[in-house]
Amino acid sequence: MFDKILIANRGEIALRVIRACREMGIGSVAVHSTADADAMHVRMADEAICIGPPSATDSYLSVPAIIAACEITGAQAIHPGYGFLSENAKFVSILEDHGITFIGPTAEHIRIMGDKITAKDTMKNLGVPCVPGSDGGVDTVADALAVGIDFGYPVIVKATAGGGGRGMKLATSAEDMETAFRTARAEAKAAFGNDEVYIEKYLGRPRHIEIQVFGDGKGRAVHLGERDCSLQRRHQKVFEEAPGPAIDATTRAEIGRICADAVARINYIGAGTIEFLYEDGEFYFIEMNTRLQVEHPVTEAIFGVDLVREQIRVAAGLPMEFNQDELNINGHAIEVRLNAEKLPNFAPSPGTITQYHAPGGLGVRMDSALYDGYSIPPYYDSLIGKLIVHGRDREEAIARLNRALGELIVDGIETTAPLFDALLLEDDIHSGDYTIHWLEKWLETNLQDG
Ligand code: ADP
Repeated sequence: MFDKILIANRGEIALRVIRACREMGIGSVAVHSTADADAMHVRMADEAICIGPPSATDSYLSVPAIIAACEITGAQAIHPGYGFLSENAKFVSILEDHGITFIGPTAEHIRIMGDKITAKDTMKNLGVPCVPGSDGGVDTVADALAVGIDFGYPVIVKATAGGGGRGMKLATSAEDMETAFRTARAEAKAAFGNDEVYIEKYLGRPRHIEIQVFGDGKGRAVHLGERDCSLQRRHQKVFEEAPGPAIDATTRAEIGRICADAVARINYIGAGTIEFLYEDGEFYFIEMNTRLQVEHPVTEAIFGVDLVREQIRVAAGLPMEFNQDELNINGHAIEVRLNAEKLPNFAPSPGTITQYHAPGGLGVRMDSALYDGYSIPPYYDSLIGKLIVHGRDREEAIARLNRALGELIVDGIETTAPLFDALLLEDDIHSGDYTIHWLEKWLETNLQDG
């Protein structure tokens, strides 16, 4: 096992990894920018090292600075958290050259899944159901129009290098196609330096269902069920739950086995998430994330598994601690993401926290790096905390969420907490009856100024 792990991240996810290290008796090294000198992860880690100025490019994304920090502190492994360098294949290759273990999959797996055309091709060959669409990349308007005829409108043009919903355009008819195709390519070129696009049938009212998988890198893999993350704003998840209200045990076992078999066959190591759109009882693969997800705690809650601990163990060459038949679901969990944003327009709201009180009690987990007097720097993501509740069933989880939100105090800045108070008044949230478009529509009529 490693003696010391460096966490190449900040905020709540850095704390999450430091906590796992401490429970395992492993030393932790925090890295930070000058803007984060007073951040909680710096205080909580065993050691901390400043790696650069506020801009993420020059600090949390600076590979030379992070490797130097490993060399200075003697850290043998790096946990990347999510975001930043977590899905950067080049970073992983460089670490291999330096004899530093990356707590995550291989550079090759990251590369395959980082390109959506290659990812889809790989998954299709592994027997995973995919959205019908073009066979690989589409280079010309004429080819795009031909795909439109083959599959029927509406279709969606997507960047193979895409992420965060960028480089994605809807074409509702042949007349729309040229504009959608050219705009998607231009956006993809500008955002990712790669203008390759592909085309998929557009699904009108799907849910977002993702399967948590975990592999040992030696041909064994399990699944830990699904999360329903359909409640999204601008393709960003805001409310996640497990198990999914629309998924029954048989469906879960079937899609779960397909996903676990697929990653076992490629000797995948560590945690991964296979994302699907789910409509009329059918799953359609959209992408695989080769890292820990923000919403992983809902899975941890219902399976009683510490995913970060498991990531660290398999990265150190130890076997997985569970078999598929030992993974049983206990109850229901919900996570809501608290952002430093002002409603109704979700404008960033950095500033100083004058008072912070985290909710507690049975079945409540608050993952946050906030503290009284903390100044939220304006340079990074607006996520300031995740409130996770666990109950015997969905109804109890919702009641607990309502109760926990009532206890939460974050003064000094604006947060998205009132959004969840409002959502909990909606019948559709109580019945679990929502698709990926539900929240956008609800926001239009209930919250946004315009
Ligand atoms: P990104 O990596 O940019 O987030 P994804 O492929 O994960 O891109 O898609 C993001 C979101 O876009 C999905 O969650 C869904 O809301 C929408 N989307 C993507 N593909 C389709 C499709 N074929 N039909 C309908 N919606 C889609």
